[in-house]
Amino acid sequence: MKTFKSILEFQKYFSTEEKCRKYLEQQRWGTTPACPFCGSVNVHRFPNGRIFKCREKECRSKFSVTVGTIYENTKLPLTKWFLATYILSVHSKGISSLQLATFLGVTQKTAWHLTHRIREMLTENAPELLSGVVEVDETYVGGKVSNKHVSKRKDFSKLDNKTMVFGAVERQGKVIAKIIPNTTSDSLVNAVKETVEEGSIMVSDENVGYQQLKKSYRHAKVNHSAKQYVNGAAHTNTIEGFWSLLKRQIDGIHHSVSPKHLQRYCNEATFRYNNKKEAQDSRFTLALRNCEGSLTYNQLINKI
Ligand SMILES: [Zn+2]
Repeated sequence: MKTFKSILEFQKYFSTEEKCRKYLEQQRWGTTPACPFCGSVNVHRFPNGRIFKCREKECRSKFSVTVGTIYENTKLPLTKWFLATYILSVHSKGISSLQLATFLGVTQKTAWHLTHRIREMLTENAPELLSGVVEVDETYVGGKVSNKHVSKRKDFSKLDNKTMVFGAVERQGKVIAKIIPNTTSDSLVNAVKETVEEGSIMVSDENVGYQQLKKSYRHAKVNHSAKQYVNGAAHTNTIEGFWSLLKRQIDGIHHSVSPKHLQRYCNEATFRYNNKKEAQDSRFTLALRNCEGSLTYNQLINKI
């Protein structure tokens, strides 16, 4: 996997469209280009090197490496896309669309669309269930009210524009963060079952919602069951740490994030957290390998 020691080295390596395209081909197809419409590897490369044609009788489609990826139909050069992807996947806190716009010399609207499409790339589509000792918790993110922990809040009706996010994190392992509609027992039970393997040790605070899960999980509650567990026990410091990371990114960099886009910001923070052991520079390639799929501007703003 190609690695880059600095942003300068990165820009030098991907200085032309040609270089970007070649790297994308390599990451997407290896040595065997495949038709994005029918999957066949029986394809012909035109002499210009950029365009392919599928040789299958019933297909015959023409395509380039960007077809079927988030880079499809873009007016922006790949050099800028790559740089933006590098910054979002490598930079420890992410970047605001305003900063990125200045950096790339594009409008803020373009940069905003760009960052959301890149966040799609940073999304793990079917993450494995977490296991071992797993801390679970929920918190409000975004909006204007201060970031007090849910259990310390008294008046939920004032939670203007705040969105509830559920999180589960393996000790020394991965985190999953997802938006949930509310904190009813049903929501919490579903969220845990979708993210944590049955039989795991689940550590939570005293929220009663989690108590219904005691048949499927070994449940450790902070404060009360601390002595029952080895490994130093029942605490939720790991997930609390992730929350402060997420909130620093959202409140500190983006200032306000609408609920309909919040899941993507969670995915971005999760990607960086889960790949923190990877060398910074290989995170770019990891992200790039996930480039299939697309998200149009109209889809983003819900016009279609
Ligand atoms: Zn085909």
